[in-house]
Amino acid sequence: MPETATHSTGSDPNCIFCKIAAGTIPCHKIYEDTNVLAFLDIGPIVRGHTLVIPKRHTVNYLDCPPEIAAGIAQVMPRLCRAVVAATGAKACHVLVNNGPEAMQSVMHLHQHILPRFDGDHFHLPWPAQKLDSGEAAEIAAALRECLKA
Ligand code: AMP
Ligand code: ZN
Repeated sequence: MPETATHSTGSDPNCIFCKIAAGTIPCHKIYEDTNVLAFLDIGPIVRGHTLVIPKRHTVNYLDCPPEIAAGIAQVMPRLCRAVVAATGAKACHVLVNNGPEAMQSVMHLHQHILPRFDGDHFHLPWPAQKLDSGEAAEIAAALRECLKA
């Protein structure tokens, strides 16, 4: 039976995950505290596919204040262990899509927890290439420069 969440602040009236956090749209809730809600994904890629959201609206990690990120980080190890234990999985992915170009379809920050089973046939493409040392020096320098701001 879907349940409703009980607490929410900093909400966007047009956002479906804000509505779930506010309790106006039901979800299959698995965890809730003052800052965070976790519930089952309505379109699971694998059995036990779970979403973890901050109750306060933020679009993604490109937009996210550190205190919201900290609230999620605080509970992720416990939630990952619960998802793995409850499903009998051996392992899990933790995945965040940040922006439409990175496959984000719901514009409220969410972490996917994807339990993995032997022979589950789920395939995450990972076309690894060799890191070019010249390019690596350039991009690392650019990143360090951005982090100075
Ligand atoms: P993303 O592509 O990373 O933005 O993922 C959005 C996820 O939200 C998808 O996996 C959807 O299946 C899931 N989703 C969308 N609406 C709901 C909902 N009402 N309840 C639970 N999961 C949802
Ligand atoms: Zn929202």
